[in-house]
Amino acid sequence: TAPNGSASAPAVRHNTLEEIDEIYARLTSTFRAGTTRPLAYRRAQLLQLARMLKENLGAFEDAFFQDLGKPRQEVGAMEVGNVLSACLYAAEHLEGWTKPEKPEVEEWRASWDATIYRVPKGVVLIIGPWNYPSILTLGPLVGAIAAGCTCVIKGSELVPALATLLASLLPRYLDSAAYAWVNGAVPETRHLLARRWDHVLFTGSGKTGRIVARTAAEYVTPVTLELGGKSPVVIAEDADIEIAAKRVLFGKAQNSGQLCVSPDHVYVPRALQDAFTAALLTAYRAFWPQGPLHPDAKWGKIVNPAHHARLRRLLERSKGTVVIGGEFDGETRIAPTIVRDVKLDDALMEEELFGPILPIIPVESVDEALEHIRSQPSPLVIYAFTSSEELKQRLLDTTYSGTLVLNDTTSQLAVYEMPFGGEGDSGHGRWYGKYSFDTFTNLRSFTNVPPAAEPFLGARYLPYTDESYAA
Ligand code: NAD
Repeated sequence: TAPNGSASAPAVRHNTLEEIDEIYARLTSTFRAGTTRPLAYRRAQLLQLARMLKENLGAFEDAFFQDLGKPRQEVGAMEVGNVLSACLYAAEHLEGWTKPEKPEVEEWRASWDATIYRVPKGVVLIIGPWNYPSILTLGPLVGAIAAGCTCVIKGSELVPALATLLASLLPRYLDSAAYAWVNGAVPETRHLLARRWDHVLFTGSGKTGRIVARTAAEYVTPVTLELGGKSPVVIAEDADIEIAAKRVLFGKAQNSGQLCVSPDHVYVPRALQDAFTAALLTAYRAFWPQGPLHPDAKWGKIVNPAHHARLRRLLERSKGTVVIGGEFDGETRIAPTIVRDVKLDDALMEEELFGPILPIIPVESVDEALEHIRSQPSPLVIYAFTSSEELKQRLLDTTYSGTLVLNDTTSQLAVYEMPFGGEGDSGHGRWYGKYSFDTFTNLRSFTNVPPAAEPFLGARYLPYTDESYAA
């Protein structure tokens, strides 16, 4: 492979519609047979998934390099390490998560044995995007396995090396009767969506998410929608400018800006724009001493020529001033590009950028930034750099997003003890850690009313009388 993954992988083999039907029938009958219910089975499958990741790190690095030119450090930590930790975490907590719960009830119902059982939803479908094609498919799968579901995972057709790798690895490590990786594009996904599922977890664009929700509604299937949006950054007057610049640029650099929680654009008080831009330049030169497009630089590619051209057009139409970057490498890579003096109606503010372009929008005050954020669709995350408790509270009270992060970018992804998800246009439902288990679990309420409870129930029987009503 040439430097930075410029060789592309062969096209992925899509499953046929007949194969999809056969897989669906197999997974349905496995679930009905109760195979995936015992905790020992779930734990064994979780540990097998962890083994798969550990034993094939090199193959994952190669596939990610081919598809996205991704530096292996990002593959090891996020795409492999994060899922591996999630497997071990779920295996460790399985017993506690699945334990039946006895709610506190009033005295007169104490003998009814009220219990909440946590039962698997059934046969579930996970549909993933191309940008983090391992963590966003195998991550939710951890929850489905822990919950005791059978599961089809549909990977993205835009990352063929990874899709081919996972289609071959999964059956070697996991029980094929219960879990299946399916490759395909729109026709195959539509065919999958036309089945009756017990839950669908979709990660991708808002446009496709709406198709998924509409199709799932046919069977009243619950859906989790993990969508995108423009996640803003607010720099407050009291921010540590050097730290803010370094951390924003680091967040933007992840996967060349192709990250759902990428810091999309930055609001900075007008008086601080020069200082913030200078600090970004310092960080930029430290991150890429030879320049990001140098053959030795660890700088990944844009997923395909269509996205490359989309980003190029947006930058060409922008009326902001390019501070650094702006170079395009054929149809594969784009240098990280900082653009200052961007106005709210600029081309770069029209859509989720999903690429390595960082617009800086000077504002008169933080209030102006918050007002603009409130006027936009709810993002997945809002980032703010401040040490002010008052501003933290104001952000919590007056803005909406799936996550609020102060003084860093993207590190929230490492906290799998917290739920991950969107709000409004950025989606609904949650996964990560125990929340993934919850997503694929039904709460089944149970009571057993013993004959001995009869004295307390006598008044409810017919015929209704005024005396029984008064009692
Ligand atoms: P996409 O919607 O194009 O594709 C996602 C999946 O849907 C793929 O598996 C694809 O094969 C399938 N698909 C595409 N069009 C379809 C159609 N018409 N009918 C049925 N299935 C279809 O999204 P993408 O380009 O792969 O991903 C990028 C988007 O995903 C961005 O908006 C990004 O913000 C978002 N995203 C969100 C999260 C999150 O966790 N919230 C994470 C990563 C990416």
